[in-house]
Amino acid sequence: MPATILDGKALAKQIQAETKESVAKFITQQQVTPTLAAVLVGDDPASQVYVRNKERACGRAGIDSQLHRMPASSTTDELLAKVESLNQDSSVHGILVQLPLPDGIDSRKILDAVSPDKDVDAFHPHNVGLISQGRPKFLPCTPHGIVQMLARHQISTSGKRVVVLGRSDIVGKPMAMMLSGHGCGVGSDVANATVTLCHSRTQNLAELTAEADVLIAAIGQPKFVTADMVKPGATVIDVGINRTDDGLVGDVDFDAVLPVAGHLTPVPGGVGPLTVTMLLENTLMAARIQTGCEALLSA
Ligand code: NDP
Repeated sequence: MPATILDGKALAKQIQAETKESVAKFITQQQVTPTLAAVLVGDDPASQVYVRNKERACGRAGIDSQLHRMPASSTTDELLAKVESLNQDSSVHGILVQLPLPDGIDSRKILDAVSPDKDVDAFHPHNVGLISQGRPKFLPCTPHGIVQMLARHQISTSGKRVVVLGRSDIVGKPMAMMLSGHGCGVGSDVANATVTLCHSRTQNLAELTAEADVLIAAIGQPKFVTADMVKPGATVIDVGINRTDDGLVGDVDFDAVLPVAGHLTPVPGGVGPLTVTMLLENTLMAARIQTGCEALLSA
């Protein structure tokens, strides 16, 4: 039997409807509209599309969004001044600096400058530390979307073997931290896993992936995961977004893995829509924090 396809688009729609309701309630109670400020530096076409999608999603959920465009020639100091002004602006609850930043800008310095309370991407070391200690304020959007997808399809990771391919600060590393912990806001079933975090130096990679009950691929290598690398019945989450001559493809060879896996996410229409969705959740959380009515995410 072919794998059940995990439809991220449909799930994103459902979660966004829930977020919209929560936003409306928050506005009624606090008389404050959650507001996200996106900083876009330069004119990278993919970044423009991502930011536009985020603005539209905010609009649908009743969240205000601001777009702060800066020229590609901006300096690190100019960008730091922009971030600082947004940190000080009490009408802005969440700040998103669209990556990648142009060469010549010190990205680390910029991300570190975002107030941890407005850090809706959860990239600030303060927030990364809280995640590692199992008491997150914000969860990074892509891993957050993945745990939502697992939880809402009743796919447990507790006691299971999870293999994460890719150790980036944005996806792989936080994903591994979240699933190996006691819980990350969606219950203890989507946590408590035995996690192996793989990267480009990992030896015998295919042997490791073939033992995974849940395999999460986030490496940016088109169709890298083939059928022989997947345990029959495993859940395979494809984070990759690769633009090729054949169009947009994931890190998983979808057609080859479909007959082997138990659950599989498509590209596009899998993890991507959930990433934007969790940004909305994080913006609402940021507004809650700044109005003093936050509750920490708990298992
Ligand atoms: P990075 O480029 O930051 O990191 C890639 C990771 O993959 C690195 O840890 C690298 O290892 C590892 N890697 C690369 N090649 C191999 C290989 N052949 N075998 C094993 N490991 C390998 O990637 P990101 O995490 O930012 O993104 C990964 C993919 O996910 C991209 O396609 C990106 O577009 C996509 N993405 C999708 C999102 C979504 O919403 N769907 C959101 C974010 C990203 P090493 O550390 O040793 O170099």
